[in-house]
Amino acid sequence: MNDKLLEPVTHLKGIGEETAGLLHDMDIYSIYDLLEYFPYRYEDNSLKDLEEVKHEERITVEGKVHSEPSLTFYGKKRSRLTFRMLVDRYLLSVVCFNRPYFKNKLPLNSTVTVTGKWDKHRQTITAQEVLFGPKKEVSGIEPIYSVKGKLTVKGMRKFISLAIGQYLDEINENLPVEFLQKYKLMTRAEALKVIHVPSESEDLKQARRRFVYEEFLLFQLKMQALRKVQREQSKGDAIEYSETMHEEFISSLPFPLTNAQLRVVREILSDMKSPYRMNRLLQGDVGSGKTVVAAISIYAAILSGKQAALMVPTEILAEQHADSLYKLFEPFGVQVALLTSSVKGKRRRELLERVKQNEIQVLIGTHALIQDDIKFKHLGLVITDEQHRFGVGQRRMLREKGENADVLFMTATPIPRTLAITAFGEMDVSIIDELPAGRKVIETYWVKPTMLDRILSFIDKEVAKGRQAYVICPLIEESDKLDVQNALDVHSMLSAYSNGKYRVGLMHGRLTSDEKDSVMRDFSENHVNVLVSTTVVEVGVNVPNATTMVIYDAERFGLSQLHQLRGRVGRGSEQSYCILLADPKSETGKERMKIMTETNDGFVLSERDLELRGPGDFFGKKQSGMPVFKVADMVHDYRALEVARQDAVELVQSDSFWKDDKYAVLRNQLYHSGILDGEKLD
Ligand code: ADP
Ligand code: MG
Repeated sequence: MNDKLLEPVTHLKGIGEETAGLLHDMDIYSIYDLLEYFPYRYEDNSLKDLEEVKHEERITVEGKVHSEPSLTFYGKKRSRLTFRMLVDRYLLSVVCFNRPYFKNKLPLNSTVTVTGKWDKHRQTITAQEVLFGPKKEVSGIEPIYSVKGKLTVKGMRKFISLAIGQYLDEINENLPVEFLQKYKLMTRAEALKVIHVPSESEDLKQARRRFVYEEFLLFQLKMQALRKVQREQSKGDAIEYSETMHEEFISSLPFPLTNAQLRVVREILSDMKSPYRMNRLLQGDVGSGKTVVAAISIYAAILSGKQAALMVPTEILAEQHADSLYKLFEPFGVQVALLTSSVKGKRRRELLERVKQNEIQVLIGTHALIQDDIKFKHLGLVITDEQHRFGVGQRRMLREKGENADVLFMTATPIPRTLAITAFGEMDVSIIDELPAGRKVIETYWVKPTMLDRILSFIDKEVAKGRQAYVICPLIEESDKLDVQNALDVHSMLSAYSNGKYRVGLMHGRLTSDEKDSVMRDFSENHVNVLVSTTVVEVGVNVPNATTMVIYDAERFGLSQLHQLRGRVGRGSEQSYCILLADPKSETGKERMKIMTETNDGFVLSERDLELRGPGDFFGKKQSGMPVFKVADMVHDYRALEVARQDAVELVQSDSFWKDDKYAVLRNQLYHSGILDGEKLD
């Protein structure tokens, strides 16, 4: 960067110590900081044809006063002034509140400019600003900055204009000229000027387009460089094993693999056999069969003399995975162990000792697996299931703890591509895009809570056929803050209702792990017919005989979460049902329910979820690991994101990027972010 831009803001003629103090409060110290402080929105005061203006939009019109203003007072200070105004061929009304003194300033036929909110139905503008004369010849588009303390938006505009006026020549281009030409992008200096002092909306669009590309390209370059550095620095072991024995395991499975499973297995094994460490994300919708893919990969590691760790977010899931893996591996003499919080004291010490000696080959547990003092003899493979909430930082920690083990992340939350290539941009991605044959589509209904009786008798019928049901509630117990169903109440209601006809179980996060264990066992062995639960069963739980999923207050859940919950049924051969009990008030709430009834495809849902919630919320709170872009928007600018990613991939892979002068500026930004010094991205 040009050093002159690092000069303090006081070097600007027109900014003194006092103003500088105000700017410091907003973390603006240098000229550069000031220039990089972008407006968060714009107000468009340019004249527009009324035909094009939407209801409730802010507009500015210039015209002639067409009727004597009439003024009404109500209360002591409040008043309302109205007059008719002729704008081109339109006659419209203007209302001004609490400005009685306007009355004498609006003679008939005089020219007036009014800015305000347009009521299309009443053909009326509620005036915010009135100018007694023609519109001034200034820019119609005004930037709005967020400001703190005594700083005003107008002040901010002035200071930034000063910076632009005095330092514009110092702003260097940071993109190679070939990209500017290829995509017809504005230069950085020009775009900065337009972002802060736009003259017309087309310019602004172009300036935005430039920064969107710049932000995406720089971000993707970092991700791709990180990927390259990780590959080169972290040499993994190229595992070797007997293909015949491995084949034997695969053919011992009770079903043939789907084509998608075969493909991802190939991708994973080829990583494991390579001298690089695997860093792969495996995406597959609920029920697509990720567990066997994990088992196959684990077995390859074990055949080569190594150990594997499988990490999951909940103990229930850990137990269930342990169960399936015991069964699959038993005939092959593989030692599988489960490490949960209930394994304590001597048992725990013994277990860890056996892990250390490689007497246990597969260890399953929650994330305590990598955080604790657990030592493996030859950890070759670390798999995490359903851990999509991990950010880049946590993924890095996992890689670091895992010595030089291969790492595989599995997730059933289909992540929209735009997010996947952003949040997981430094990883390789495998996708299982096919469900095992013969699966029936889960029928999904959205009903109002008033239909509860019919739903209860529906559950009766399913239970009478020998099937089981889940009933999900948002809360464990009653809350005075939220008027939503809680598991305790619903459990007692259902127990009373069933009146001994069937057994109702209760599951929630406050049970001890022994209690959870026994409830889950009762349910999976069909001793409990209906399981009332909070969302602890959201991920992974597998009870194929369960055919009905009822979700109370479904509008409180996001689409991806509803899809996860729905994925608990439809796991066997019987027709399954998902019933959403919801009475959403908001439009997006209604929209969500509707989408759920329309599609079973997790990828479609995730794209819609992203549109409805925005990228910040997609992964839930804070720890999402999503980057913050100043101008770019991953949802709306996804095309630019794809283009920038492709460019970044090609650049990082080319020799010239690492040598040629013309890429020096881009390279420097990577050094600047620490990636090329071995430190990594956060
Ligand atoms: P998920 O991807 O949601 O973790 P699972 O691995 O739990 O899915 O698999 C869901 C169910 O599908 C399991 O009962 C599993 O045994 C079964 N399954 C997996 N792969 C196949 C296949 N190729 N053919 C038939 N059933 C399969
Ligand atoms: Mg699973």
